[in-house]
Amino acid sequence: MANTSYLRYTVEPWVRSQLEMRFEQPFASRVMPLSSGGSHEFDAVSLDHNVVVAIKTTTGLTSGGKRPAGKIAACLNDIYFLTLVEAPTRILVLTNPKFYELFIRVTKDQIPSDIRVEPLALPPEMQLEVDAVMRHASDEMNQKAEVSPPVSEPNSVVADGSATRPVTMGGYWTYENHVHRYARVHKADCSHCNNGRGSHNATDSTVGRWIDSFEKIDDAMKASNYPTEPCGHCLPSI
Ligand SMILES: [Zn+2]
Repeated sequence: MANTSYLRYTVEPWVRSQLEMRFEQPFASRVMPLSSGGSHEFDAVSLDHNVVVAIKTTTGLTSGGKRPAGKIAACLNDIYFLTLVEAPTRILVLTNPKFYELFIRVTKDQIPSDIRVEPLALPPEMQLEVDAVMRHASDEMNQKAEVSPPVSEPNSVVADGSATRPVTMGGYWTYENHVHRYARVHKADCSHCNNGRGSHNATDSTVGRWIDSFEKIDDAMKASNYPTEPCGHCLPSI
């Protein structure tokens, strides 16, 4: 398991301290209401709630020089939530300048104009530590089966997506599709679910995500803010 606590307890507070100097007020991570009715925890929210910030420590590291589609999708996921929060200033902060350049290039004209994407370079020692954390997470990912597209979760380290998944095959999973705005609950052993890894022809992770696994189906049905239906394949009797 990657040392994500370093990001949460060292890197994110440092970014918040920079925001505090710039906007001259305290920042804290905070759960904010979304215009869609639900809520979401953002990494840095100003005391007056006028500035809402998502922080991504994503680095440009990839295995084999491939375009880091999963990492880009995770940032778009943060932007998606920023579009649903009401605040005059909404920013996605990317702490790795190289990744920032890549992200800006590949998402050209895809980001709403009222959401800012800004680079904020970490102190060199801190960046080295982040690189080590990310490399470790990436190694863990590569040890997993190749069938799974990286599925990102808000507020989690990008490369860490599947590394934290339980290996047991019980309970229920909730999948939500951001594009068509629905959610489906599957049994963990459903062929469409495959314990949260999806099927071979699984929907691309840029359009949706596996939220989590749940012991009780009632909890799984309530996990998404979108209209939620049980899967017709594995849960037809409900
Ligand atoms: Zn199913």
